[in-house]
Amino acid sequence: MAPHTGLCALLLIAGSLHPCLASPKLLVFLIDGFRYDYMDQLETLPGFKEMVESGVKADYMTPDFPSLSYPNYYSLMTGRYCEVHQMIGNYMWDQAHNKEFLIGTNPDSQLPTWWDGSEPLWVTMQKLKKKVNMYFWPGCEVEILGVRPQYCRPYINNPSESAFREAIEDALNSLRNNSADMAAVYYERIDVEGHHHGPMSLQRKEATRRLDGIFKDMNQKIKEKKLQNNLDVVLFSDHGMTDIQWMEKVIELKAYINMTDIMKMMDRGPVVSLWPKQPQLNQVYEKLKVVKNMKVYKKEEIPDRFNYKRGKFVSSLTLVADPGWFITESIEKLPYWENGTDVPTGWQHGWHGYDNEFVDMRGFFLAFGPDFKKNYRAPPMRSVDVYNVMCNNLGIKAQPNNGSWSRVECMLNGVACLARPTLLSIGVLALVLILLSV
Ligand SMILES: [Zn+2]
Repeated sequence: MAPHTGLCALLLIAGSLHPCLASPKLLVFLIDGFRYDYMDQLETLPGFKEMVESGVKADYMTPDFPSLSYPNYYSLMTGRYCEVHQMIGNYMWDQAHNKEFLIGTNPDSQLPTWWDGSEPLWVTMQKLKKKVNMYFWPGCEVEILGVRPQYCRPYINNPSESAFREAIEDALNSLRNNSADMAAVYYERIDVEGHHHGPMSLQRKEATRRLDGIFKDMNQKIKEKKLQNNLDVVLFSDHGMTDIQWMEKVIELKAYINMTDIMKMMDRGPVVSLWPKQPQLNQVYEKLKVVKNMKVYKKEEIPDRFNYKRGKFVSSLTLVADPGWFITESIEKLPYWENGTDVPTGWQHGWHGYDNEFVDMRGFFLAFGPDFKKNYRAPPMRSVDVYNVMCNNLGIKAQPNNGSWSRVECMLNGVACLARPTLLSIGVLALVLILLSV
């Protein structure tokens, strides 16, 4: 049963007609690399503050493992774990067909093998003859299960602020004039500044302040266009960000193994996929097992809680760095050397991809509109939970997924839930218990 249908039935019985007449339109924002605590200083961010007060804010959102972009883009839009939807990394190798996925940049990244493992929300919508507009959203240009969104403004590297503003304007107008039922907009700047300068850098904070200004203007436009009673807005990130101590916390694989024993290596950083030549597999594994500040897993040893190991593109060895550590073949092969600078601090100061339970990997979730409670603080959720919320907003039946409805339903209007315990209420309860016991 689609959650929205159930809610409608209950509300009809209760005599309320509103949510069942027509599903509101949905505007979705994917803000890459926005850590859950970036909006802790709400007083300095009036745009975010207005959204929080008029809607729902989750304490935080735990990403799927690995806490990287493409895997979570797809977990968010399918509600499924990486091992189920198959988009398991930013860099992947299909050994059977010798094809590579290189963070969406190479033509082979559009092959169905990477995308057809699950049906994302926008494809389901189009199949239902509903209209989806997507702006800079990675993958909207790809034909998935034979379908594309009706409109896709393709991803470009770090689109400008004015391009983002223009996309929001176009999305709002399309939703208002019924040429779209859902619009989805992607924004990259926060992730870029977090990587380059670190999550708590002035540059990242300034980028957040500028994003806040854009959302402040958007809130105003929603009212001017009289959309506030017919538009749900959902905003989330794919993962957080942590500081990396460049050069001090680098693990160079060449110091431990002979790289000629490796048939294929994909990605570098917190998670690395290795395919050693078959005869050397155990030898490479044993050598990597003693390396400090990282773990090496054979497929079957990967922790169940990662929901990762059954993915068909998972390598024979997966390396996972401890927080803040960075795995690479050798530092000479990293881009800052290729750029011709010899300043070792000149490359990146933030990264993500680590164990998804690491606090700094947490993302955020915000939502407001007629379907959501106002000024409601929702408990922690997971990226696979977002899909059910969006399906509910759109009034469509969710595909089978790994999300938990009970983790998100309390944020919806019309769903009665017990108030979350506060420190005060816990204190009062403890006092009563003490008094009763004497
Ligand atoms: Zn990133």
